[in-house]
Amino acid sequence: MKKSRLLLIIGAIISVALIVSIFVVYNYKNKQVSNEPEKQSLTTEPTKNDSVATKEPKKTTEKPSEPEQQPDENGYLPNQTLPTEPTYINGILLANKIYPLPSTFAPGENKEARQELDKMLVAAKKQGFDFVAFSGYRSFDYQTTLYNNYVNRDGQAAADRYSARPGYSEHQTGLAFDIGERGKENLWLTEEFGETPAGQWLLTNAQDYGFILRFPKNKEDITGYMYESWHYRYVGVDIAKEIKKKDITLEEYLGVK
Ligand SMILES: [Zn+2]
Repeated sequence: MKKSRLLLIIGAIISVALIVSIFVVYNYKNKQVSNEPEKQSLTTEPTKNDSVATKEPKKTTEKPSEPEQQPDENGYLPNQTLPTEPTYINGILLANKIYPLPSTFAPGENKEARQELDKMLVAAKKQGFDFVAFSGYRSFDYQTTLYNNYVNRDGQAAADRYSARPGYSEHQTGLAFDIGERGKENLWLTEEFGETPAGQWLLTNAQDYGFILRFPKNKEDITGYMYESWHYRYVGVDIAKEIKKKDITLEEYLGVK
């Protein structure tokens, strides 16, 4: 009786010890295995962050930050270099002295803009105004030639006042046109054109065809250009109407001024 009881106790102790040791070994092994995926997930975390980081610069082209430098007397930023990508804000292409275009940007004349321009000129003719779009798309190279000729003739300071430097002209977008009346070439590129019935017709109706007067009077500090009664920019009917209604510039509409 006593012997069998002792055996039972010893048996119980051995089996408890066995169970405990099996549990300890199993737990230790499990810990080692479960540590691996934890380490891996730690190393994958930064790569996930990296991919988010590489997306960031693309977002900034959508909404560019305000340049920190102050523009010079001609509206250009000192030591500004041309970008590698054009600036689109909410899908609208912006080209001005602060946001220039890449030298390689050569879209040609915008088909939709030309179509709407032709519609506008036909409608104007019915009202008795015979318009000519005497300047449209200009390539980077053409603007370079143009600007250099002006600089050679009048000097850079003078040229900067009436001609855009290469990469800074809205004509390089293929969305801008200089408009005047046929047979009244003496009024082309003049402020007076804006005061004529023809100039007034354009000002009143351009938005119905998706165009805005790009450099209005008294907005030089915003657009960077003096009043240009002849320069119209295509932005599409909806936006053109909103800009006209609010009496604002493209820069104000896009929130960069
Ligand atoms: Zn122009």
